[in-house]
Amino acid sequence: MFSSSKWEGLAKIGRFDVNSKSITTPTLFPVVDPFQQNIDIQRMKSDFGFDQVITSSYLMSKRFSNSENGIFKLPNLQELPSIESYLNYDGVIMMDSGAYQVMLYGDIELGVIDTLELQMNVGPDIGVIMDHPIGYNVPYNSAKKRIETTLTNLKTSIDYFRESKVHWTLPIQGGKYIDLIDYYLDKVLNEDTLRHFSMFALGSVVPVMINQDYDTLVKMIATARSKLPVTYPLHLFGAGHPAMFALATFLGCDTFDSAAYALMAKDGRYLTVDGTLQLENIDEFPCSCRICSSYTVKEFKALEKTIKFQFLSEHNLWESAAEIKRIREAIKMGRLWDLVHQRANSVPRLGRATRLATDFVSTGNLAKLHQAGTPSSLQFAPRITKKADLQKVDYQRIKSVSKRIIFDNSCTRVIIIAYTMIDSIFNKLVDDQISKVMKDENDYQILLLLPPFGLVPIGLNELFPVAQLVHELEIESFDFDDEIRQITNLFSDKTKRIDIILPETWPSKFYEKVVQITGEIFFHINNKPLSVLKELFN
Ligand SMILES: [Zn+2]
Repeated sequence: MFSSSKWEGLAKIGRFDVNSKSITTPTLFPVVDPFQQNIDIQRMKSDFGFDQVITSSYLMSKRFSNSENGIFKLPNLQELPSIESYLNYDGVIMMDSGAYQVMLYGDIELGVIDTLELQMNVGPDIGVIMDHPIGYNVPYNSAKKRIETTLTNLKTSIDYFRESKVHWTLPIQGGKYIDLIDYYLDKVLNEDTLRHFSMFALGSVVPVMINQDYDTLVKMIATARSKLPVTYPLHLFGAGHPAMFALATFLGCDTFDSAAYALMAKDGRYLTVDGTLQLENIDEFPCSCRICSSYTVKEFKALEKTIKFQFLSEHNLWESAAEIKRIREAIKMGRLWDLVHQRANSVPRLGRATRLATDFVSTGNLAKLHQAGTPSSLQFAPRITKKADLQKVDYQRIKSVSKRIIFDNSCTRVIIIAYTMIDSIFNKLVDDQISKVMKDENDYQILLLLPPFGLVPIGLNELFPVAQLVHELEIESFDFDDEIRQITNLFSDKTKRIDIILPETWPSKFYEKVVQITGEIFFHINNKPLSVLKELFN
């Protein structure tokens, strides 16, 4: 059972219950293997706080195989240990289908039924049916064939499922071919299929990541997320670097797995959310985890090789665990958007992918879901420190409500009061004094010109986040084109005269654009709008 509490756009804090255990999402499944592991698997939970791990069907099949004369033979199922004792771990255990490694190494034959039998016998909490992942350089037609095979496997698997503790995962395939993901989703998203599954997992991600093709990754996730029901967790097979977790969560992924902590440590790579460092180039550890606060870099480098590998893996895990916590806190505060943009500089090509993701949630096929998941009020006003922040739902919401109200209440006379919003407008507008001044008037409308929002009816000045907002953009950076269009529209409706009250620091390009509008417009340069209103109406 999957339920979610706090939302920010597509990201959510969720709870996934399996076999009387539960995990909080978003989260990471560290990839573990008892034979290569340099960190005791139970410590994943007791030390690092990972209540879930993922392990490989492929490796387990090989370990327990009955191979003779170099010919692979499947394990004798009755002789297999339970997955808990194999891993010595009592948290939630996910097992992959082995498909990716079979594709990569091709050294054993692990069929659809083989992997189901293996999983149903050893009993992970979450299992995966055998799919056919698609490599990065696989041509379109071959990818299409692999999709068809996965669909056949899906049917075979469903027919073969029997009562077991395994909660099954439905892999989502198509690779970098977005239309194939669409095609696949159209085939599998029906009640008859879905009722057999508890989770979705987007596959063929690692080859895309290895090629640093994050734009394609964003498109793959966006395509899947736009169609998959949010009542199931969405797993990303192989999210790799902790710097990627925020973006994947932002696009609606709930869980990811990664072996990067160990694989990268093998090559002396030290993971940080700001990018990857080579141990040999570090003079001081930019981290205060247990490892980094116990050794100087010099002491660390002098450690014995296997210990160094273990400790580097541990640091990489601490960094991953900390990022997961940061992401969850950010969702609660409505600050994941900001975190995603902070991470955009950490890995090459992530900046462009982040912009693409922002477009998907602002105007693309995720916009509706993103808007629905954005709370209408937060503890803190969302921050605007760069142009991209203007795409945040909070501003778009105020903009569209304002436009509707202005249009529905058009009047003969309009007064526009501009504020730079470099300081908050909270308490600056003395509503009751304004209504005293305007007491004998009725055919008028007072609008505020607030750079991040555009024209806003004065009645909305206390609505979140109008009153709370302080932006950090240069006032000159706004083009005012949308406002100019709105002012023009006012004249083409009922309005006969517009008075615009501007502070002294208002940019001149605004005047230059306004004077080109046909209509009776009066400018008042004054930092005290109330005194202008008194002059005009008393
Ligand atoms: Zn550390």
